[in-house]
Amino acid sequence: MCKKNSFALLGEFVIVLSMNIYLIIVLAIIVFRYLLETTSDLLNLKAVSPDIPKEFDGYYDAEKYAKSQAYLRETTRWGLFVDAINTLVLIGFIVVGGFGMVDNIVRSLGRGEIFTGVCFALFVMLAVTVLGLPFSIYSTFVIEKKYGFNRTTPKTFIADFFKSLLLMFILGGAVFALVLWIFGALGDLAWLYCWGAVAAIQIFLMFIAPYVIMPLFNKFTPLEDGELRDAIEKYAESQGFKMKGVYCMDGSKRSSKSNAFFTGFGKSRRIVLYDTLIENHSVDELVAIIAHEMGHYKLKHIPTAIIRSLVISCFMFFLLGLCLNNKGLFDAFQVEHLSIYMSLFLFGFLYSPVSMLIGIIESVISRKHEFEADAYAAKTSGLGESMISGLKKLSVDNLSNLTPHPFTVFLTYSHPPVLQRIRAVGDEAALAR
Ligand SMILES: [Zn+2]
Repeated sequence: MCKKNSFALLGEFVIVLSMNIYLIIVLAIIVFRYLLETTSDLLNLKAVSPDIPKEFDGYYDAEKYAKSQAYLRETTRWGLFVDAINTLVLIGFIVVGGFGMVDNIVRSLGRGEIFTGVCFALFVMLAVTVLGLPFSIYSTFVIEKKYGFNRTTPKTFIADFFKSLLLMFILGGAVFALVLWIFGALGDLAWLYCWGAVAAIQIFLMFIAPYVIMPLFNKFTPLEDGELRDAIEKYAESQGFKMKGVYCMDGSKRSSKSNAFFTGFGKSRRIVLYDTLIENHSVDELVAIIAHEMGHYKLKHIPTAIIRSLVISCFMFFLLGLCLNNKGLFDAFQVEHLSIYMSLFLFGFLYSPVSMLIGIIESVISRKHEFEADAYAAKTSGLGESMISGLKKLSVDNLSNLTPHPFTVFLTYSHPPVLQRIRAVGDEAALAR
């Protein structure tokens, strides 16, 4: 490959830019996303105030509250730095024709379209993962450690890295090969068949995740007999909720942060509590948290989310079908040979603002559902006060941001800010009295 000096590169960039509308659109999308997220982060930093919200009197002292804000500042600044580097590398890679270069390398293997496509996809996935590794090491072993969260040993970190890479290679590679085969073999309605196949795989994976995928990373043990289990079962029975299992997960293997979640569906559904959550909360607080998770189930938040995601992916595959082998798009990325696999990658750039918009709408819906699940839990368990103290402890233990900027909440928060949740549950509990 010939050496180019920076002036020649800049000249080439100007020529390419002036020739191709797709390149302008793609670069504009990348820069817009970067500016939007950076603005949100900067506003969020500005919203930090040293005054402890009165609801948290007795939960936070001035020193610990200052620590939570220092944590927010440090993680946000680090995020800004990583995002700037990623954006610059991505723009640079596009402008010098990196996609075309990698394509020429995988093509030189001289194999068929599906094999070449899977090699291309695996190469890109590997490059992204390896380049992200130093950032992830710094975040885990420097920042999280400094604030007392990190419990990941280097051994766990390395094992996690290879397990996720392997999973991504096997699952990602197989699904990508299937999609390429369908688009290559099934003609005009291939996008619809693709959607059907990918949707079936997604649902299957969601079903088997609690048995097959999640145990690769964590240990799940059924909750032991005792006061907590009795209290949960009593509550579940009162709600006519058929228990499929409440499990304790060894979250402490990686971090002292705590959480609870719902996973699987149908026969595989289960509620998971982090061991760190069980350690630090009372039985009533834990029952209130479980009641919230059951609320999601009872209010059918999970099946409706699955249906929305199926409709959205159908729309995405339809658009993808329209964008295959678009010469202008290939020129923008300086890719010589048309191919379906490359079309999928390049389409991803055009689709990213749509997926960003969908993400924002989804988080609006999710925040509404969180309020509904809280209200359900407070009403049916009668444990509104415990729920409030549970939420407060959770925020303090995780050093959560109590006063996020509304723009950041709008853009990224899947859960309402904790103060809003506490106030809503408080109103609910007051009504019940
Ligand atoms: Zn929830």
